[in-house]
Amino acid sequence: MPEPNSGCHLWLGAMSDDGYGRLGGNGRMRNAPRLLWIETYGPLAPGLVVRHKCDVRACVNIDHLCVGTVADNNNDRDTRGRHVALHGEKNGHSKITSSTAVAIFLEPGKHQDVAWKFNVSKPLVQAIKSGRLWQAATKPYWSPSWLKELEQRKRLKAAA
Ligand SMILES: [Zn+2]
Repeated sequence: MPEPNSGCHLWLGAMSDDGYGRLGGNGRMRNAPRLLWIETYGPLAPGLVVRHKCDVRACVNIDHLCVGTVADNNNDRDTRGRHVALHGEKNGHSKITSSTAVAIFLEPGKHQDVAWKFNVSKPLVQAIKSGRLWQAATKPYWSPSWLKELEQRKRLKAAA
């Protein structure tokens, strides 16, 4: 769908949690801008990624895409302040997404039951529930009483 102001073509298909357009293919979800680039210009050399000149992550206008290294991409992300502090998703610790982390965080019941329900390990549930992992994702859902408890725990730890 062409976006009138910027000329961006916004991808309206399935969207990954980090806002990049994705397509299904080979039984795996694939990055839509990358797929479009490969379809247009052929395969990418190893270590190269498709980047957005327009910084619109859902944009699939081939004129707005360019190729760079992963380092370029990370640089961009930092300098443009776009870095999403979703701990866990990219660090290899877990295979869940931020929305799953939030769902786990909000799910009542025993940690073991929650772990079964979401098909994750109990330690992961504990880490999410205690705010050790996915803090940035779950923080908006922290209740005042839970924050108080967290403060108390911190104070006890400091006193010990
Ligand atoms: Zn664009």
